[in-house]
Amino acid sequence: MTRVPTLLILAGDGIGPEVMAATEVVIEALRTKAGFHVTITHDLVGGASIDAHGVPVTDAVVEQAKRVDAILLGAVGGPKWDALPTDVRPEKGLLRLRKDLDVFANLRPAFVFPSLVGASSLKPDLVSGLDLLIVRELTSGVYFGEPRGIHTTPTGEKIAINTQSYTEGEIARVVDVAFDAARGRGKRLCVVDKANVMETGVLWREVAHRVHKNGHQDIDLSFMYADNCAMQLVRQPKQFDVIVTDNLFGDLLSDCAAMLTGSLGMLPSASLGAKTNDRQMALYEPVHGSAPDIAGQNKANPMATILSFSMALRYSFHRPDLADRVDHAVASTLADGYVTADLTLEVPPKAVLGTREMAKKIADAL
Ligand code: NAD
Repeated sequence: MTRVPTLLILAGDGIGPEVMAATEVVIEALRTKAGFHVTITHDLVGGASIDAHGVPVTDAVVEQAKRVDAILLGAVGGPKWDALPTDVRPEKGLLRLRKDLDVFANLRPAFVFPSLVGASSLKPDLVSGLDLLIVRELTSGVYFGEPRGIHTTPTGEKIAINTQSYTEGEIARVVDVAFDAARGRGKRLCVVDKANVMETGVLWREVAHRVHKNGHQDIDLSFMYADNCAMQLVRQPKQFDVIVTDNLFGDLLSDCAAMLTGSLGMLPSASLGAKTNDRQMALYEPVHGSAPDIAGQNKANPMATILSFSMALRYSFHRPDLADRVDHAVASTLADGYVTADLTLEVPPKAVLGTREMAKKIADAL
């Protein structure tokens, strides 16, 4: 008998518990309709954990997170905790989880649902059918490199320093994840860097060629400078399948690509770690925050979290069939004209649903 996979749910703050409850409706529907079993545990993160334990994430939760197959996180933060010192703020819980799990590869799909084509900032023909994935290195590069800081020079002038550095190992492991991701999609990987002006980019290219030769030659490998990539993402975004890039370029390019899809409430993400003995640390979360302005009003769009769970099905539970089924259920619900209040269709919607009602519609469509 195959082992039942394990999932730790950390709903967090604001709309986090609402979008998570909606996602659990879909998970329950997968159990009854497709016989999919997963052992779920719930715990606290962010402001909810501060209120209960005085810290944004407890050691026990971090240890539990290391043991499960996947973590699904809602969102953290809100005005209640805004005045706290930065080292005990809700966001620190999320940052600690990412760091302690060493989830170095951040996967952000940019997928345009046919009925939401009109919500994009680009012309419909440029984004219709868009389906690309950006893999961003998450735990190294200029956001972490040493030396860093703001100092005063002997002449009394201030100088600010950040360091971009990458080891071969740090590049190889994220490029390897990106090749694997490309294999489950269009089999094309584009490495994005600034090899024309930065040594780190030169090393990214060298290592990417090496990783390619070492078991990934079935994937088509190409390279592009980051400034050109920014332009191409708004000029002809459908040319890409999977992009892999460093922490800084990935931060910028993934936000740019995300907005092609039109709505924050639709964007899922996955952060993956190294594979050891067939296990891989994995944290799934919607891209949006805790949306305090609509929290507790049954208005939040749960689709980003439901689609994040779909990524867990694909990458952690090895059920691409069920991931496709969830993705199709979301697409068909939208195509039937059902939306949440944050979405605009080209045609008038059939109904604007609340969080709970949208979850039920998607579960019914499975
Ligand atoms: P936000 O993403 O929470 O909200 C931005 C806007 O988008 C708001 O108008 C909100 O109502 C709307 N929105 C967001 N998600 C939505 C959804 N699922 N359905 C419908 N509308 C949605 O960003 P913000 O307002 O800058 O931040 C609010 C809080 O969230 C802050 O405390 C911030 O620190 C935190 N935050 C957390 C995360 C995270 O947990 N990963 C990410 C970003 C912000």
